[in-house]
Amino acid sequence: MSVAVELDQITKSFDTTFAVNNVSLTIEPGELFFLLGPSGCGKSTLLRVIAGFYRPDAGILRFDGAEMNSVPPHQRNTGMVFQNYALWPHMTVEQNVDYGLKLRKLEKQERQKKIDSVLDLVQMREYHDRPVNTLSGGQQQRIALARALVIEPSVLLLDEPLSNLDAALRQNLRNEIREIHSRTQITTIYVTHDQVEAISMATRMAIMKDGVFVQTGAPREVYQFPTDPFVASFVGETNFITGNIQEISNGSVMIDTPIGILRSECIYHDFTPGQEVSCSIRPETIQLNQNDNVNQFDATLSHITYLGRVEEYELMIADQHSIRTVQYNPQTNLKSEGDIVNLSIPPQAIVPLPIENAD
Ligand code: ATP
Repeated sequence: MSVAVELDQITKSFDTTFAVNNVSLTIEPGELFFLLGPSGCGKSTLLRVIAGFYRPDAGILRFDGAEMNSVPPHQRNTGMVFQNYALWPHMTVEQNVDYGLKLRKLEKQERQKKIDSVLDLVQMREYHDRPVNTLSGGQQQRIALARALVIEPSVLLLDEPLSNLDAALRQNLRNEIREIHSRTQITTIYVTHDQVEAISMATRMAIMKDGVFVQTGAPREVYQFPTDPFVASFVGETNFITGNIQEISNGSVMIDTPIGILRSECIYHDFTPGQEVSCSIRPETIQLNQNDNVNQFDATLSHITYLGRVEEYELMIADQHSIRTVQYNPQTNLKSEGDIVNLSIPPQAIVPLPIENAD
């Protein structure tokens, strides 16, 4: 049984730092929801508020409509997994997983059934009698996951669970966590600073900065239509070209930039003529030598990086503006550094974003 988690104007500060500053959001039952942001943005603090380790200074936390602020952590029916596993090193796998069941005073037979079934779920049953300090990092993290899942939590909370593991193992465990989530359908809240992890796994995600949510949405939505320059650069790679709104017409805007006029048809803000904007353009949307008739520029190929699966180009426009692009499946070396190429940017791929004034 999974629940909805509602954050209603939650604030948590430490001395003068607002770690979480008046955030509101509803996470629907069964979501695999990500809190994504750079170090220090408040993600772990928010997760701890949900777990009950911190009480918010203001705001209300609800599970399925029931207020949780004064419910102690062990009565919230949440399971938590930490970056450093936090297992009892000298206990066996089975004893670690059994711990939460014993606290709940379940009969031995019922406990054993649940332990066997959760160890099957994380593919660790054959290790049941091994002390956990004899297991690899990836295996220990599977046991931490099993320990959190065995109590059949209403909400599963994961705090950077894969960041101690190497890249290949991280990729495997990402797939396994997705699989386990789709089988159990437990509302899961997952904290990470790794945007690839978030994009590849999340049903939805909130991008956090300085204790607030900058944008919330499904991975595709956030990647394709960032609402803010911070989100555009934090989630994926992008190019920025600044300029001023010149003309607004039905469904498109013209932007005056140092490389020339750009036409955008990706407009999610109300703009006024003269307003300064930063245009986000994803490298993979830029086309070379396509002969489109909008947003075309001549550029000098200043740097080529061959990466096997892709080739990255750095291009200079008007001798002063550098722009990065990527070509997939680069088979023959047709281009050299110093070549002049014609690039075009589809109007749907130019996302003008308002530039915040510092004051
Ligand atoms: P990281 O990815 O590095 O773990 P985070 O996004 O999880 O970062 P938090 O750990 O939530 O960030 O911290 C948010 C802010 O609150 C930071 O400025 C941090 O220094 C501060 N902070 C967190 N916990 C405490 C604490 N117990 N006492 C004082 N300040 C704290």
